[in-house]
Amino acid sequence: MGDTIFGKIIRHEIPADIVYEDDEILGFRDVNPQAPVHVLFIPKKPIATLDDAELDDAVLLGKLQLAAAAYARQEGLAGKGYRTVINCNEDGGQTVFHLHLHLLAGRRFTWPPG
Ligand code: AMP
Repeated sequence: MGDTIFGKIIRHEIPADIVYEDDEILGFRDVNPQAPVHVLFIPKKPIATLDDAELDDAVLLGKLQLAAAAYARQEGLAGKGYRTVINCNEDGGQTVFHLHLHLLAGRRFTWPPG
């Protein structure tokens, strides 16, 4: 896959409001938040979309979810609840082609989504 703006954030070439980092995952605040808390968790491995993930990525995808859950717990958001979302390709609303998981919290979300 080609480089994306998230690749530049991973390499610290452009600024981001980073809230979590380990060897495999980076978490940073979304620049255009859709909720009072809107954090993106991304694998440092450049997987373009969920459709490009392979069985070898299963543990990494699990860690992405668990990093978001741990952050929500740490920030006191878990009790009231939150939503995690992975948008995939055009109909999914994906605009940045480096797989990312949205953590949204701090307001009530409707279902089904719009
Ligand atoms: P998606 O539409 O699922 O691909 O989500 C991409 C998200 O990345 C959007 O919510 C954007 O607001 C967010 N975004 C784009 N550029 C940046 C950036 N430089 N820093 C933080 N978030 C960004």
